[in-house]
Order: sequence, then structure tokens, then C-alpha cells
Amino acid sequence: MLKALRGTKDILPADVALWRKIESSARDIFALYDYKEIRTPVMEEASLFIRSIGTATDIVQKEMYVFSDRAERSIALRPEATASIVRAYLENSLGQEKAVTKLFYIGPMFRSERPQKGRQRQFHQLGVEAIGSDNPLLDVEVISLAVRIMRELGIKDFNLNINSLGCRKDKARIIEKYRKAIKSRLDSLCGECRERYKKNVLRIFDCKNPGCGKVVEGIESGGFLCDDCAAHFESVKKGLSSVGINFIIDPRIVRGLDYYTKTVFEITQKDLGAKDAICAGGRYNNLIEEMGGKDTPAVGFAFGMERMILSLEKENASEEPGMDVFLAVTGQGMLDKAFHMMIDLRGRGLSCDIDYNEKSLKAQMRMAEKLRAGSVVIFGEDEIKKGKISLRDMGKREQKEVDIRDAAREILAIKSGTTSERGNT
Ligand SMILES: [Zn+2]
Ligand SMILES: [Zn+2]
Repeated sequence: MLKALRGTKDILPADVALWRKIESSARDIFALYDYKEIRTPVMEEASLFIRSIGTATDIVQKEMYVFSDRAERSIALRPEATASIVRAYLENSLGQEKAVTKLFYIGPMFRSERPQKGRQRQFHQLGVEAIGSDNPLLDVEVISLAVRIMRELGIKDFNLNINSLGCRKDKARIIEKYRKAIKSRLDSLCGECRERYKKNVLRIFDCKNPGCGKVVEGIESGGFLCDDCAAHFESVKKGLSSVGINFIIDPRIVRGLDYYTKTVFEITQKDLGAKDAICAGGRYNNLIEEMGGKDTPAVGFAFGMERMILSLEKENASEEPGMDVFLAVTGQGMLDKAFHMMIDLRGRGLSCDIDYNEKSLKAQMRMAEKLRAGSVVIFGEDEIKKGKISLRDMGKREQKEVDIRDAAREILAIKSGTTSERGNT
């Protein structure tokens, strides 16, 4: 039998409720902060990601899905959204509409990683990009937006870790410092990290090898920022404190993607472990200019939705609401009658279904239980002859005969009764 590709997953109806809960509460919050949705294609020219993310990154070197199409163009499945959004921002001149362009996205991304818990090859991200200002208060807004999403979803035990990489010059100094400090200890690094040392020393932080971690984590970092970047970072910290957001300053957050500058941050959650951030982001003040636009500072973040699901599953398995009414039949010609009532009830806004296979009444009642139907209409030959049906209130476990013309009204009464009872508890 055919199976889904390794590292891809069906999100089944039973799981969709949780996905929708995350999406809809995020959308509500994005609206409060005035972020507008953008949907970019999942395919782009491969060069877009190579230029923006950086040639020496794992994403570009090992993880990106790149293929030649029939016209021999080099196409990539997007490994992240920022590059696509910057491309769309420039191509559609989105910056002309508002001083700061605020965008959000929700959708699948693709990386050919080794699949493991919370890490898929087709995975989903939800994120924002705020393009057009270097004001540290915008960093504070973006971070507080991420924290608000965590709080709104009830995800507990999380840490916000922040750092600043400074401007281009500062970042070059940081890289130089790490290269100097590591030079004498190259032998302690794995083969891959010796390559990283040459091409992109900050990527060593991503190595899963504990030996490599020890080498870089002991290096004294800090004091690299120029006055301007240091003041910017101070303002971000002050701003976060002023809005009641706790943070940890973590110089090990270097976000190896080439485009990051100044503020970088990660949100980690206790159950997921420190290595797997649930949310990551930062400033990318040079990217838009590097991609051919005007000098335009920007800041954003992305949540890993599979990780949000993991941290939510334990606490609240939210359920889809039950069905309003199930129509059960017993006897000849009853399915046709039930079918027509069902069409009428759906027209009145009630959710309902029937058993097209006409199994036994007992089996149909079991089905109604499973669907968590609020009420069940039973069509029996004898009752129908008298113009009646049986109506069962599944919550109260009461059943009565009802005139078929009153059925819709009675069903609505049961529905509003159960709704108001639920409202009181
Ligand atoms: Zn600087
Ligand atoms: Zn290594």
C-alpha cells in the first residue's frame, strides 16, 4: 500500500481541531496588532533562498529541496518564509502603503532533515514580518506578540532568550572573536564543524555534538556592540521590562542564518527541551537592501506549529463540537423521509447526518453517541403513519413522540437548552 513520504504527515480530522485553535487565536491576536495576512507560493527560484539565507548554512547546503523543472530552472520548496515575503514585498511595492508594513503568514515549509518528534520534512510555520523601522519598540512589539500567542494558547513553562548580534561590523567582530578563540582548539571539533569554522563559525552552535558545544559555549562573548547597537539592545531590554515580559540574555543565540542583525530571540519550552525552540526570530536590517531594495530595516519571528501542537497536546485536547441531531431509521422507506428532513434541518442551520447504509437501530444509536449528537430523531413505520417521529434528548436521556411538523422546533429547543446549560457551567 502507498504511504505518505517519510517526514510528511496527514493531519487527520481528529487532530485538525487543535490546529484550527492555534490558527484562529493567532489570527485574532494578529488583528489586534494590525498584521495582515500574506500567502506566497511554496515554490520559488532556488537562488532566492541561497542569496538570503546564506550559502554556508545547513538549510541551503543540506536541507533545502531543490529540483530542476522541465525547463531546467532551479526551483526550491521554501525552507522558511522570510525570503519569500521580502521578495513579495519588493516585487509588489508593499512598502508604499504604510510606514511599517506588518505581515503574517501561516503555512507549510520544507526541509530535508532527519525526521523526529516535532521535526518534519513538511512542517508548518506561523510568523510575522514587520518591515520599515529600526525602532527598538518595534522589536518589543514583535516579541510581545509572540509571547501573547504563547499565553493565549495557555502554553506554560516557557523562556524568552534574547541576544544582539549588532550591525554588520559588529557581527564581523563577533565572528572574528570566535574564530580566534576556536583556532587553537580545532582538533576538538567534529569534521563538519571544522568546515563551519571556515565558512560560518557561528553555525558551530547548531552542532548536536556535545564536544563542539563545549568549545563554543565557553567563549566569552559580549562587548562587541558599537555604541549605537548597544543602545538599541538596551532599549529593547528596557521596553520588554516595561511591558512585563521576562527574558534571559543568552549570548549563545546567534541564529546562524546570514541575514540576522541586532536583536535575535528564541522562545523555548520546558517539555520540548532547550535545543528545539518553539519560536525564533530577530532583526534582519540588511536583507532587503541585499535583495535589491532600499535600505529597509525589519524584524520578525516564526513559530514551529508542530512544536506548538506538541506542547499543547498534553494540556488541552480540544474537541470538535458534537453534531446537533442524528436521524435514525427503522423500516421500509424511512431513509427517504429522514433524508428530506435532514435537508430541511441543515437549511435551518442545524448540523445533522444519517446512516446511508441503514444498519440496525442499535448500531445507529451507537453512531449517534459517537458523534456526540445533541438529539436523535427516530423514524419508525408505525409512528410515521400517525404523522409522528420519536425524538430523543441525548443529554437528558429522555425520549418522546413528537408531531413531525413540530420536529424542527423541538430539536432547536433541545439545542438551545443544552447550549445554555453548557454556558452556565
Ligand atoms: Zn553596531
Ligand atoms: Zn560539530
